[in-house]
Parts: sequence; structure tokens; C-alpha cells
Amino acid sequence: MNLKSFDIVIVGAGPAGGHCARILAKSGRKVLLAEQNDTFDKNDFSSAATPLETLSKFDLPESVIGSYWHKLTIETSKVSQTWESPKSLGVVLNFANFREFLSSEVQGNGSEVWLGYRYIKHSQASGETIVEFKQLSDGQIVKVSAKVLVDATGFVRAIMYDKENDKPDFLSGTGIEYLIEVELEVYDKYASDLIFFLGDKWMPKGYSWIFPMEQNRLKVGAGRIFLDPKTVKNLEPLKKYIYLLIEEYLKSKSYKIIDKHGSTLKYSRGLKDIYCKDNIIAIGDTVSTVNFLGGEGIRHGMDGAQIAGKYIQRYLEGEISDFRDYETEMHRKFDQKWNISERLAVRKYIDDVNDELTDKMISYLKYMKTEDVMDILFYYKFEKISRGLGGYLQRKIKELIKKFHL
Ligand SMILES: Cc1cc2nc3c(=O)[nH]c(=O)nc-3n(C[C@H](O)[C@H](O)[C@H](O)COP(=O)(O)OP(=O)(O)OC[C@H]3O[C@@H](n4cnc5c(N)ncnc54)[C@H](O)[C@@H]3O)c2cc1C
Repeated sequence: MNLKSFDIVIVGAGPAGGHCARILAKSGRKVLLAEQNDTFDKNDFSSAATPLETLSKFDLPESVIGSYWHKLTIETSKVSQTWESPKSLGVVLNFANFREFLSSEVQGNGSEVWLGYRYIKHSQASGETIVEFKQLSDGQIVKVSAKVLVDATGFVRAIMYDKENDKPDFLSGTGIEYLIEVELEVYDKYASDLIFFLGDKWMPKGYSWIFPMEQNRLKVGAGRIFLDPKTVKNLEPLKKYIYLLIEEYLKSKSYKIIDKHGSTLKYSRGLKDIYCKDNIIAIGDTVSTVNFLGGEGIRHGMDGAQIAGKYIQRYLEGEISDFRDYETEMHRKFDQKWNISERLAVRKYIDDVNDELTDKMISYLKYMKTEDVMDILFYYKFEKISRGLGGYLQRKIKELIKKFHL
């Protein structure tokens, strides 16, 4: 049988897969980007907030932006703190438009995007890999051959693990989000504010959020973190906390629900994922690039995809014969900050740090400048928490950090 052959087959058109396919296609490689959903609206699950630098770093156009934000608010059970900047601090992406844009760039550079194709299995045959897909519209099986196969299937890790039991220990998170349309006066109040809710009142053992979008729309979501993935199934409590935000916080009387979506994160504790096997390489959430403390994974998945792209080029040029150096570079980049974030996430969401401590921690942060809070929340510069504060506050924060066992 004459199979269609590609330099690289990437499975999963999320931020990591889409970006990896885009840069490899731009460099002239023959790429197939395959995705099980047949449209990008179907799995529009991510809240997709990101700092402003993501736009320039990854060369993203206006069309992928849902809104700009220049305020950052943290609400706990008893404390409310807002930090502001005269300039935009970040954006909320329109996650569907964003992934569609990445895939349009793949096609624009002469490569292929197949939507509605689910990866089934792969096998090795005379130096090439045969990848099998099921076309979901008619159940037909389609095979292609690849020199390099990329697992970008996110938390499912469909290619890297044959059996569920082979997977490492995960911290799991389930988030659901409603896209709602609200009255103009409600929207105007929250149109440029990224709001996170911590603490028992708003979302015990997790956090909830309100993010602005375009046209009177807000994303209102809640997420819970679990050690045991089986407990994720009951979503009722999450919905309850979403309605709490809409009715008690926004006080919207006549909101309209436009869309409900959600998904799961599975983060390997200690970053123990399999990064590569022979000519197969894993990127994005498949190798836990999501930062588990804040559940932020888009730009980190794209960062990792860019690193993978560099090694894929070297492999195809015959300069390297495996992807072990990719794994080393990824660990060098992520290990330290991700390990601290993981420990904080376990303390906050699993051990369930007492509510009063959360209130205190956030009220101390009010003395910090907006840039410093951005550095802590988005660049994981946790050392800034104690630096730059006066003597008394510094002692107080150190006491809290001790309680957090950092
Ligand atoms: C509720 C929620 C809110 C979030 N909010 C934010 C946020 O505000 N900011 C932020 O930066 N991050 C956020 N994240 C995290 C972020 O969305 C992820 O880290 C990011 O999407 C990971 O990108 P990825 O490409 O690795 O995987 P994914 O985006 O999960 O993409 C994987 C793709 O693979 C496809 N796939 C899976 N199996 C197969 C198969 N067998 N065959 C074919 N295709 C397959 C899936 O359909 C999917 O499209 C959020 C996550 C959740 C769950």
C-alpha cells in the first residue's frame, strides 16, 4: 500500500501541537497536524488568560484576543486586593480562534491539518513510523508514515503510554467554565479585570475565576484539585460555585449562558513523564508543562514546543539520533520553578491550608507593586514575596512561608 508520508506527524492541535506544527511547517518541513475534534469550537475549554508578552513572543495577531486586562484582583473569603497598571498587563485569548489561527498558519505554509481524526496506534516499519487514525465522521481507518511522531494530546498522553497503569502519579484538576453574557453595567465593571477567587467561601480545595471577554461576555469558572482522579466525576460542586460568582459576586440579574465547557489537567508530580522514545517526542501538557499552582499552561506548552522543534530539526538533519537532549533541556527549564509551584499547590489545594492563612497572605501582598505581583503569579518569582517588604512585614511573610513549609 502506498502511504502518504510526512516528515513530522503531530497528534493534537492544542497550543503545543499547533505551535510546534506551525514553526516546523514555516521552516519548510512536511507536517501533518491531526486533531480528533472536527472544529475548534468543540473543545473550547481553556480560560486562556496569559500575560501580554505571549503575543509578541509567539507572534500572535489581534484576531486571537478576546480581551485585554490591566487589573489583577485576588478575592479570598475575607480579603479583596486589586493591583492596576496604566498599560495592559495581559490578554484573555479566544481559545477557539487562537488554535484555529495556529492551524491556518500550518496550512498557509504548505502543510496539512486533519480535523476529526483520532489517533489509534502506531507501529515501526523499516525506519519509519506508521500512524493509524480513525476518521470520526465515517469510522474509516487512515494510515500515514512519519519520520518523527509528536504526542501533543495533552493530559490523555495517547501516544506515550500504552497502558493506564504505566502512567506516573498525577495531581489532577478539573475545571468547568461558563461563557456568559451580562448587562452592560456589570460588564463595564469587570471588563479589564482578571479576578481569581481563593478560599473556602469561593472555592474550597481549588480556585474560581472571572475573566473578561469581548461583547459583554465574561468567562466564569471553577476548578478543583485532586490526588485521586476518581473523585473528579462529580461536577455539581463546581457548578454551585460558578453560580455563587454569577449571583453573589457579579450580581447579574439577567445573564445568558452562551457556552459551558471544561476539561482536566493531569500533572506528573516531580515531572516524571516520558519525554521521548525512539523517534517519538512528547510536548505540552503531555509532559506537564502546565504550571499546576495557577493552572496556566498555554505559553509554557508553546515554549516547550519551540524547544522540541529545535531538536526535531536536528534529528531530521541527522545531527542527533534521539531526543534525550530535549528531555535534559526541558528539565533544566522547568524543574526548579515547577517543583516549588507543585509544593505550594499541594499545600493550598490538597492539604487545604487554613482559610485565615490565605486571607493573611493576600492582605500582606497589598504592599507590593503591580509588577512584583505579576512576577510572583506569572513568572513564579516566589523570592519576591519576602524581598522588598519592610522589616515587620518581612518577618510576617517569613512566618507564613515557614507554615507553608517552603
Ligand atoms: C478549565 C481550564 C482553564 C484553563 N485556563 C488557562 C488559562 O487561563 N491560561 C493558561 O495559560 N492555561 C489555562 N489552562 C491550561 C491550558 O489550557 C493547557 O495547559 C493547554 O491547553 C495545554 O496545551 P496542549 O496543547 O499541551 O494540550 P491541549 O490543549 O489539551 O490539546 C490536546 C489536543 O489533543 C487532542 N487529542 C487528544 N487525544 C487525541 C487523539 N487520540 N487523537 C487526536 N487528537 C487527540 C485533544 O482533542 C486536544 O485538542 C486551563 C485548563 C483548563 C482545563
